[in-house]
Amino acid sequence: MNSAIDLIVMGGGIAGVSAAMYAKRAGLKAVIFEPGVIGGQLLFMENVDNFPGVAMGTKGRDFALRLEQTLRDFEIKVNREAIREIRLQKNGVEVVGNDSAYAASGLIVATGASFKKLGLNNEERLLGRGVSYCAICDGFFFKNKDVAVVGGGNSAVEEALYLANLCRKVTLIHRKSSLRALDYLQEEIRTLPNVEIIFNSTIKEIKGGDFLEQIVIENVTEGRTQTLRCNGMFIAIGVSPNTELLKNIVSADENGFITTNEEMKTSCDYIWSCGDCRKRPLRQLITAASEGAIAAVSAYKHIKGHYISS
Ligand SMILES: Cc1cc2nc3c(=O)[nH]c(=O)nc-3n(C[C@H](O)[C@H](O)[C@H](O)COP(=O)(O)OP(=O)(O)OC[C@H]3O[C@@H](n4cnc5c(N)ncnc54)[C@H](O)[C@@H]3O)c2cc1C
Repeated sequence: MNSAIDLIVMGGGIAGVSAAMYAKRAGLKAVIFEPGVIGGQLLFMENVDNFPGVAMGTKGRDFALRLEQTLRDFEIKVNREAIREIRLQKNGVEVVGNDSAYAASGLIVATGASFKKLGLNNEERLLGRGVSYCAICDGFFFKNKDVAVVGGGNSAVEEALYLANLCRKVTLIHRKSSLRALDYLQEEIRTLPNVEIIFNSTIKEIKGGDFLEQIVIENVTEGRTQTLRCNGMFIAIGVSPNTELLKNIVSADENGFITTNEEMKTSCDYIWSCGDCRKRPLRQLITAASEGAIAAVSAYKHIKGHYISS
């Protein structure tokens, strides 16, 4: 077991990178655990247009590369294992990666969130074969084809706008009678001639052999169904937190988002949380970054205090 770590940061999205950077600058020995690409959800983002100091039109993946550079600049170790188990110890935590266990005085959970699924038959089987959760990642494959987008919030409308530039026709399907997206997005989508919006409707069935062929749409107010032929279906119905491992360890809300105080401290003495896995009013890059910084400083105070008193 490796016990020479002050702080483990679980997740290498912007919240985790920011936490690790502040921890390192404070003098803590911090290690990030990240099995995927540094940057997390940044990889799904076309442009980063709302981060002060970052030029409009900066690609999400370029921003992600800069985060990786930050880790190199600060000589922060990245462990490429996914954390699979978290155990509370007398004076800290122990996490289990692929094969080994690692002990630390504190843990910052920055595991972000994943796309919500519809939970329908064929959704998993046709993933990457017509079904997608990310227009920026997969939209290109549907150039001049017909696609559907499911959802009515900002993400769904942004996906539909992006796809309308590429595809022959985009059908936006929303279960409510009006969109939830910001006004300017709604105005923009309504001006596009190749976008149709179907309200009060849900997806009842996904059909296809090797690839998606049709979806069955049900009007929830009238109970009638219609079949839509499409090559792609982009599901944009929100995200759920990656907090399964924390169940029964820290407090969370009814949707699994970790609850903390304003210093990002959870209900457990050795665990902090920041970013999209945490219950917060605004899930954006800038709030994730700032919460990472707060979590690290809060953890630093606790860990140093703990060292002094022991
Ligand atoms: C399509 C899209 C567009 C967006 N557009 C914008 C925008 O324009 N502006 C904006 O400000 N925000 C935008 N957002 C939101 C923004 O991306 C997020 O709020 C932010 O990236 C959250 O960062 P995070 O570090 O909390 O989580 P994430 O970026 O989700 O990172 C979490 C990381 O934790 C890792 N992880 C998970 N489980 C484990 C484990 N068990 N062990 C180790 N690591 C683990 C994951 O692999 C991941 O890399 C957008 C999001 C999406 C999906």
